[in-house]
Amino acid sequence: MNDAPDTPTPPEGLPEQLVSDLNALTTEELRKTIIHAQELLNVQDEAPSPIEPQPGDDIIRVTEHDTYTEVVKRVYCNEGCDNCPHGTYLYHVTQERHPDGTETAYWRFIRDVELDDE
Ligand SMILES: [Zn+2]
Repeated sequence: MNDAPDTPTPPEGLPEQLVSDLNALTTEELRKTIIHAQELLNVQDEAPSPIEPQPGDDIIRVTEHDTYTEVVKRVYCNEGCDNCPHGTYLYHVTQERHPDGTETAYWRFIRDVELDDE
């Protein structure tokens, strides 16, 4: 499962031990790691962190605004997870443009959303 030919270069500053631990994980474990890391960020209410949308995400609603995109989604991590789906969460997604022309999406967790409010 971990025989992908092109291993991505980890971000600068990521501890080597963590990188090697992550490389040893299965896809399911990686998804859970992302969710747990995201939940830790939510708790700490830190600065926006770059996250790529996951294929298993259940996008409920996308609303374009002038400076950001509002996204409401649920997150599935794995079959057999008692807590799936996680959410519903509201995010503000902004695009940060780099000097080389590339863009990075920053998903900022705003709050839990009750779908019954809709
Ligand atoms: Zn789950």
